[in-house]
Amino acid sequence: MDALVSLCKRRGFIFQSSEIYDGINGFWDYGPLGCELKRNIRDSWWRDVVQLREDVVGLDSSIIMNPRVWEASGHTAGFVDPMVDCRDCRKRFRADMLCEEQGLQLEKTDQGFRLPAGTVCTACKSKNLTEPRAFNLMFKTFIGPVEEDASVAYLRPETAQGIFVQFQNILAVSRQKVPFGIAQIGKAFRNEINPRNFTFRSREFEQMELEFFIKPGDDAQWHAYWVEQRMAWYNRIGLPPARLQQYVYPQSELAHYASACVDVMYEFPFGVQELEGIAARGNYDLSRHQEYSRKSMEYFNQETKERFIPHVIEPSAGVDRVALAVLCEAYREEWVPKGEGETLQAEFGKPPPAGYELRTVMRFAPAMAPIKVAVFPLVKNKPELVSKAREVFDMLRDVWPCFWDQTGAIGRRYRRQDEIGTPFGVTVDFDTLEDNTVTLRDRDTMRQIRLPINELLPRLAGAIRGSAPTAAE
Ligand code: ATP
Repeated sequence: MDALVSLCKRRGFIFQSSEIYDGINGFWDYGPLGCELKRNIRDSWWRDVVQLREDVVGLDSSIIMNPRVWEASGHTAGFVDPMVDCRDCRKRFRADMLCEEQGLQLEKTDQGFRLPAGTVCTACKSKNLTEPRAFNLMFKTFIGPVEEDASVAYLRPETAQGIFVQFQNILAVSRQKVPFGIAQIGKAFRNEINPRNFTFRSREFEQMELEFFIKPGDDAQWHAYWVEQRMAWYNRIGLPPARLQQYVYPQSELAHYASACVDVMYEFPFGVQELEGIAARGNYDLSRHQEYSRKSMEYFNQETKERFIPHVIEPSAGVDRVALAVLCEAYREEWVPKGEGETLQAEFGKPPPAGYELRTVMRFAPAMAPIKVAVFPLVKNKPELVSKAREVFDMLRDVWPCFWDQTGAIGRRYRRQDEIGTPFGVTVDFDTLEDNTVTLRDRDTMRQIRLPINELLPRLAGAIRGSAPTAAE
């Protein structure tokens, strides 16, 4: 994990927010490569969940909403985590996590929570801990110039509620019929007690949420359908089945209104953790908004003349967590032979054997890679050659994010691209000027082939879409 965090900073994927002022806990900035990676994740989700379907439409709702929304959704009263403090070292913990780390379980009481006997502070081992207190995770702000109770508002802790409160408007304009869905991608804010594991638990993050509205009774079937769809998407963006798991909630852990919930989990270096929750939430949210707003949330089926409040299936994923999983999955250290020979998986912390050198490579699925193609003129002091390379570069960057690099030995230029996960490299050399062919290098196999310039676009398009073998095979 440390090696990945350092690469993310060194190469411009992720920086600490406000770093020159010593940062701010739980907030992160995505650099030039990180924001391309996140964009790829968002675009892929949006295409899969919205654009390639006829039964899902999009929404971009505001971050700050009428505070009544959060009363209706239950967040004002119930969006709390239990918090404990160590009286000796002053560290603060989320009580359930503190217990879990010690193989214990936080006890529920009528008044709230109690620490089980034997719980200690994981930082200083003291037993001198406060009782758990409920802490609301919503960030508060004020609307207008006067900071009084009447002007309190909240930064949304999830994007989902924006969807529920626009349910009737979207139904009216989209000509959709149940079953159909509304999707949204956007920022969410939670005042997490213990932000940690790099970007995994942040205080400002992005969610990709779908509310798929269905006829009551069809819950189990649609829930199973969405679990399958979502798992397939994770595979497509390069997370292999072997490192993904499903956590199926037992009845005892389900919210009182939910009939099923499955978490999609990824095996991070710091443990198996949640990427997405897929819940069958019944009609809890729409009913609550109907009750609080006194506006009907019913749906009328013209054909069957049935009237009902739709049930909902909610796949809810975090962009930042998916980005972190994609980064973890891509990171490789390899020993590559200086001459002929097989590439070896590096043993962490050990120097490479004689005749080998260390290569750090981000093996992103091409569709996720921030930069798709790098273009290299073999030398920088031959204007004819540089201008030919520029032509190739302009042709490619019209279609994909591309990188131009004309400095240093060609091997070093390849390595720089390997480290940021650019899947393809195109080298323009003296032969290009004679016969219009270039060298295409594949990041993963490091193999090179020679091909005419006019074959580059179709060949790369297939490989980047994932429908063709890697370019140099
Ligand atoms: P956790 O149990 O890890 O706190 P949660 O179950 O409360 O998460 P949900 O409310 O189901 O999370 O939110 C849906 C998704 O939003 C999560 O699966 C995760 O990908 C993302 N998410 C939630 N909280 C955070 C956070 N603090 N930082 C980054 N992503 C988050």
